[in-house]
Amino acid sequence: MTPYPFSAVVGLDDLRLALLLTAVSPAVGGVLVRGEKGTAKSTVVRALAALLPEVDVVRGCRFACDPAAPDPQCPDGPHEPGAPHGHRPATLVELPVGATEDRVVGTLDIQRALSDGVKAYEPGLLAAAHRGALYVDEVNLLPDHLVDLLLDAAAMGRAHVERDGVSVKHAARFLLVGTMNPEEGEPRPQLVDRFGLVVTVAAPRDAGQRAEVVRRRLAYEAGPGAFAARFAGEEQALAARIRAARTAVPSVRLPDAELDRIARVCLAYGVDGMRADIVVARCAVALAAWHGRDRVTAEDVRDAARLALPHRRRKDPLDPPGTDEQRLEEALDQAAAEDPDDDPPPPPPPPGGDGPRDEGPGDGQRNSDGPRDGGDAPQAADTPRSDDGPRAGDAPTSDDAPDKRPAPAPASPGQAYRPRALRISARGEGGHTGRRSPAFARRGRVVGSRVPRGRLRGAPHLPATLRAAIHRGADRLVLPSDLREAVHVGREANLVLFVVDASGSMAARKRMTVVKTAVLSLLRDAYQRRDRIGMITFRGSSAEQVLPPTSSHEVGVLRLAALRTGGRTPLAAGLRTAATTIAAERRRDPRRRPLLIVVTDGRATSGPDPVTLAPALAGVATVVVDCESGPVRLGLARRLAAALQADVMPLDALSATGATGRAA
Ligand SMILES: [Zn+2]
Repeated sequence: MTPYPFSAVVGLDDLRLALLLTAVSPAVGGVLVRGEKGTAKSTVVRALAALLPEVDVVRGCRFACDPAAPDPQCPDGPHEPGAPHGHRPATLVELPVGATEDRVVGTLDIQRALSDGVKAYEPGLLAAAHRGALYVDEVNLLPDHLVDLLLDAAAMGRAHVERDGVSVKHAARFLLVGTMNPEEGEPRPQLVDRFGLVVTVAAPRDAGQRAEVVRRRLAYEAGPGAFAARFAGEEQALAARIRAARTAVPSVRLPDAELDRIARVCLAYGVDGMRADIVVARCAVALAAWHGRDRVTAEDVRDAARLALPHRRRKDPLDPPGTDEQRLEEALDQAAAEDPDDDPPPPPPPPGGDGPRDEGPGDGQRNSDGPRDGGDAPQAADTPRSDDGPRAGDAPTSDDAPDKRPAPAPASPGQAYRPRALRISARGEGGHTGRRSPAFARRGRVVGSRVPRGRLRGAPHLPATLRAAIHRGADRLVLPSDLREAVHVGREANLVLFVVDASGSMAARKRMTVVKTAVLSLLRDAYQRRDRIGMITFRGSSAEQVLPPTSSHEVGVLRLAALRTGGRTPLAAGLRTAATTIAAERRRDPRRRPLLIVVTDGRATSGPDPVTLAPALAGVATVVVDCESGPVRLGLARRLAAALQADVMPLDALSATGATGRAA
């Protein structure tokens, strides 16, 4: 099938530039493409492959050794100098959804090694991608251990397989391109950080451009060959330009003044570590080469910063989203202003903007229990009430807009504490390595041995293997049929789904602070245990999925802080949304077990009796965190827990150390 030509893509300028730059200089470190479905992300990435320069390879080498510099550790080597070689197009390897670790790094067949006495190694996708590109669609949905494998290989330029003391290494240098739909969950910040460039794409906003996208798409579908032929000249020109720029990269100069500018931009923008500076520098060099210049200009630095920096700012979890681009522009302007002479830099922008957010726990002097009498404007917490009209001296008051009284700020969570470990007690099959629930695992404590079903999955269990050989009455020491594999128990990561009561019954400010602190602590704990997390709240007449399942706990912290309370208590709706969310996640990743944490006092004042939802949640490990307080207790949370066959944890007992984050 003829791929869609790269030069036929309309719009998406940042994405095309980012891809071309990594093709020019793979050292830039890969591209992460964020965008909703239907933004042609995959089409553009696949189109890039046709532009990559051809590679010379040693004949018969499954690891695509370069005849000019064969990998000394090549499993198919060593290759003699002058070994026969040919050339072929660079490959674009796509990582299939649900790929296993073996598929990615290759397999070492211990059974064959035992019977044939050879190191039997089957290369995986990393070997196939060597000197080409590796494309991971929906990289945010990839299990963490595979992501780590990919990123490690991409960073080191080598792949590494180890089984039972036998290890194989081979070169694996490739352009890494990942795509993701942010609506389906944010990836871990560590993952985002390790991509060199991050580009956000959206469908064109211009009617003419949209029409042209459709026109070209239809023409392509009607006759891919003829359509590609229309763009063949442009494609050849682009490929030639990539080759020329690649050759030019080593001789591009990065003047001290521009290096200095990079450092100032990174400082002003507030990045972590030095990685950002290095990526911007490499990207600026690639840009200069792409434009046929022999030295980096201020404009190259600016363009490079826009591609390489927005995702690298030290995050304040309470920042509103969307501030990154604005801050970057400020940092760039600031660096430019410092340029000609040494004017003192303008003061950095205040971190939080406005508001009493960073007061931490106990910011509750403001009474939020309902509307106050009188029609006066909201007052600062420390201002005594005064009905004498506008006060002189202060900033203008909002007396002219009596109806625009802002809703009371949501209660801030207090200091997070270490919560007791909440676990799924039944042992899992070990879907995702993590730190929460017990599960059979590849590594970990050995608890027994078994006859392998098909290929060996874990390490061989040597005593059991020898026992089997002895029982057989060995004429030869060990046969493959004697092989026993070890059964390990480790810990797996789960989907931790919170269902949090945000109704009026929680609205007493101090109470909500305690609840938010508890959820914050559990969120942080889930992050450390490498779980996926999700959050559902219910108030008024419905439940809301405030945090679709994601691996990024920062978004959870943000949503939690912004969570407002009030209204009736539709507990059943919350549980129903939890059941649908869990069912959807099961379809997507059957190997990840859910743990449901319901934060409630068990009271429902809207909708059906919550216990009627028990069948929908049958088999889901659940913990009810009982928020009931006060001298008279109804025990409704316990009743709910009994119906759900859930554990109950009183809110006050949640902390492993006794702290509850209660305002002092
Ligand atoms: Zn080789």
